[in-house]
Amino acid sequence: MGFRPWVYQLARANGLSGYILNSTLGVTIEIEGREDAQQLFLNELRLHPPPLAAIDEIREEMLEPAGTQGFEIRHSQAAEELARAASELVLVPPDAATCDACLDDFREPGNRRYGYPFTNCTHCGPRYTIIQDIPYDRAFTTMSEFPMCAACAAEYHDPLDRRFHAQPNACPECGPWVELWDRERRLHARAEAIQEAKRLLTQGRILAIKGLGGFHLACLASSDDTVRLLRERKRRSGKPFALMARDLEAAERLGHFDDAGRAALTSVRRPIVLVRRRENSPVSREVAPGIEWIGVMLPYTPLHHLLFDGASYDALVMTSGNLSEEPIASRNEEVAQRLHTLADFFLIHNRKIQTRVDDSVVRTFEGRERTLRRSRGFAPFPIDLGIPVEQILACGGELKNVFCLTKDHYAVLSQHIGDLENLETLRSFEETLDHMKRFFRISPVAVAYDLHPRYLSTRLALSMEGIEKIGVQHHHAHIASCMAENRLDGKVIGVALDGTGYGTDGKIWGGEFLVCDYADFERRFHFRYVPLAGGDTAVRQVWRSALAYLLDAGCDTGRVPNVLAERVPAKARGVVEKMIARRINTVDTSSCGRLFDAVAAILGIRLEANYEGQAAMELEALADSFVARDIEPYPFDVTGGEIDFRETIRHLAKDFENTTLASARFHETLARVIFEICGRIQTSDGLNRVCLSGGVFQNFTLLRSTVDLLRRAGFEVFLHARVPPNDGGLCLGQAAIANRRLQSGLCRQ
Ligand code: ZN
Ligand code: ZN
Ligand code: FE
Repeated sequence: MGFRPWVYQLARANGLSGYILNSTLGVTIEIEGREDAQQLFLNELRLHPPPLAAIDEIREEMLEPAGTQGFEIRHSQAAEELARAASELVLVPPDAATCDACLDDFREPGNRRYGYPFTNCTHCGPRYTIIQDIPYDRAFTTMSEFPMCAACAAEYHDPLDRRFHAQPNACPECGPWVELWDRERRLHARAEAIQEAKRLLTQGRILAIKGLGGFHLACLASSDDTVRLLRERKRRSGKPFALMARDLEAAERLGHFDDAGRAALTSVRRPIVLVRRRENSPVSREVAPGIEWIGVMLPYTPLHHLLFDGASYDALVMTSGNLSEEPIASRNEEVAQRLHTLADFFLIHNRKIQTRVDDSVVRTFEGRERTLRRSRGFAPFPIDLGIPVEQILACGGELKNVFCLTKDHYAVLSQHIGDLENLETLRSFEETLDHMKRFFRISPVAVAYDLHPRYLSTRLALSMEGIEKIGVQHHHAHIASCMAENRLDGKVIGVALDGTGYGTDGKIWGGEFLVCDYADFERRFHFRYVPLAGGDTAVRQVWRSALAYLLDAGCDTGRVPNVLAERVPAKARGVVEKMIARRINTVDTSSCGRLFDAVAAILGIRLEANYEGQAAMELEALADSFVARDIEPYPFDVTGGEIDFRETIRHLAKDFENTTLASARFHETLARVIFEICGRIQTSDGLNRVCLSGGVFQNFTLLRSTVDLLRRAGFEVFLHARVPPNDGGLCLGQAAIANRRLQSGLCRQ
């Protein structure tokens, strides 16, 4: 991207002749000329490549002089066809944030793109979200309906121009435009649309704004009333909203960023970066009630920049334009229907979004960016697995669904699809799958799926015909995902802690210690099962988990000052207690997520959760705020393969008066449990490599203590970075396992 013109200019500047030719995942350059000029060329290539170039490796070879004259960019069509014939993976570029040169263009009065919200070049702009087919060429993008004007076409065809072959190249003369609509879909403003949008935002109105991969709902981040109103309309009680800050400086006034956080924030991928909120942060508490973390991103399209230029605010709420857990809205007509009740005005435009892509979310740990949601800016950039793989489709899980396709030695992960609970998301899954198969020319020979019989992704996999089907246990997939991204092979100790995963015994697992490789796993230790009443209801009514744990531990659940006795109606409590006692509509679970829920409820921090993981996040925030050198863990037992928290619960139930301390002690207890169990497996099996995976490890307070304990004892600890530890990373593990089973003939239908 922008690489060929850059090389062209560099070669010419150094008086070198030759050519550059793109192949699919690499570039061939021949240069001929003076030796010192060649060295200058190579140094520049190594030290200052253009912003979007991802150079993995440079291989050099000396050739006989060919006596070429001048430097040329050779047309890559032939190369692409060759690659296709050889069935190599063709690169489909992810979207990239507006570059500095383009920023200058639309901010410079007199420039023909002054104030133009669709300015882009080969270093930046929409890609994946507008591509309809490959090769990546304007004719196969949603920009095809905008014929370039003479000025744009001249740039497009000039090898010395930054916009040489910039497929979405556009200007006010020939490109898309924005409009501001009111609620009744009446045109409110066109020429002054952005000015007017800024004015409305300042007044506290809620706007639906069309971005790269879908619509955002935007409003002032500083106003409690406005944010509360958005929350009511979105029916998203409690779930944190993402923020967009004017620039790095403004972002740093909102939260605490480390170097890796700043690097992530300003990268071309422009993800949402989760950071600890500053005490005096100027944004409303309503943005993320009850938790100390806020998600901040920087403007990544010219439209975003223009919304901040000259505005009186420095931060906006920018949350996905959808009702809770629906896919993000992306079409103008759809927006009028689906966002009608959510926004007061609509800042829309007429460049179509081909593929909806949500914002990505990252957090930093040990100086490295860690992906929690891998979507815009990342997808569909392939992950190099370092080993040859079969062509496989791995369907992922149910929540935070992401699927992947493998080929050559790459895994191509889809963008974040969302929770596969409704038809709309299922359709998004199928559409994206269709696209990706076509873009990457992949025809899977096998499909890997989760063992949970009720997951939509599983049912979809099982309904596919003429393809080998490979069921993969949920927690095995989590660990294999961590192994694959760290390119491990052989046996490891796998610690998989999460909310829900279907076990091979039909129970719900989630506190699992495995000894595994890609081919298979053994479940060595697990959290003691507790009977959870009401199954999925218990994920929302976290007090049900508390009852399950308290009863299991033999605690008197009615004793004051037990918060359950005070805050859960006696009748509801009675019903659930009876259900547990008689095992009516209960499900046995070893879930670590439910243990977190139970602890939060017992401590009175949260009795009802509005979204999965809310209780755990609040507990983490408390524990994280507890500053002490040595935190004493609670006692626990290990009997056979069972990790027993009954003693932990009995102690914890007495600690309700100091929730901060109790939460810190609970986190320490879990870290010690992990440490102790890894030690036992190390002794019995002689294994030293530990993989930590599962949604619970999004809790970086727990992660930090765990990693510290393990490293100090000499374990080699492997974490996720490029792929999320939550169910968004499952597909990679499923693919790795299916691949090994296929390659070693271990497959059983
Ligand atoms: Zn640019
Ligand atoms: Zn133009
Ligand atoms: Fe999971």
